[in-house]
Amino acid sequence: MLKHILSIFLQENCPLCERATPQEICDYCQKQLKSCQLKDPKIFWGGELPLFVWGEYDGKLKQAIAALKYDKHPKIGELLGFCLAETWQKYALIDPNLSPLIIPIPLHKTKEKSRGFNQSEIIGRGFCQVTKYPLKSNGLIRVRQTKAMFGLSVTEKEKNMKGAFQLGKSLQNTTLSKPVLLIDDIYTTGTTVKEAVKILQSQGIKVLGVLAVCSPRRL
Ligand SMILES: [Zn+2]
Repeated sequence: MLKHILSIFLQENCPLCERATPQEICDYCQKQLKSCQLKDPKIFWGGELPLFVWGEYDGKLKQAIAALKYDKHPKIGELLGFCLAETWQKYALIDPNLSPLIIPIPLHKTKEKSRGFNQSEIIGRGFCQVTKYPLKSNGLIRVRQTKAMFGLSVTEKEKNMKGAFQLGKSLQNTTLSKPVLLIDDIYTTGTTVKEAVKILQSQGIKVLGVLAVCSPRRL
């Protein structure tokens, strides 16, 4: 009886459907999330900037990203990081002896302060728990506040992001022997990650590619 009462108290509501669940996200929503997974996440792995995307930014996954960022449920980010990592390991796209440094796309400190966390860093944390890759949370910092990209043309987006990032203190004046994988929540036009890659490459750092939890159907 006591155990039963305790289990009721220990249950919280699933942030995505409000059903009571002992887990971060209920079984039903986890299944729905899995159904957002791309059939071929490595389709964009190649070319100048290889890209690995876990799922489509739609339905339950879109809802999960919103709950993570705007309802402030960092645990969802960790879970998405686990999903991304499991799929990444399955595809084995890089030399298994490499242990790349995972650098999250940073937020400006004002935005991070108001949100309480950087969602890409949380996703990276989950990803690194599974892969055991080292996470460099402040490998890059965002030194300029940028406008929301929605509705901007490609040129406007590029202009908006120019000079937005700098190498974090821990990577300045060092020779980095490890290559880097960037991690982000949503990949859209790639303007943001391209700017981040430019900064890393200008310091002689090798970037293997970009990992993103999701991307809209049309890239
Ligand atoms: Zn649910």
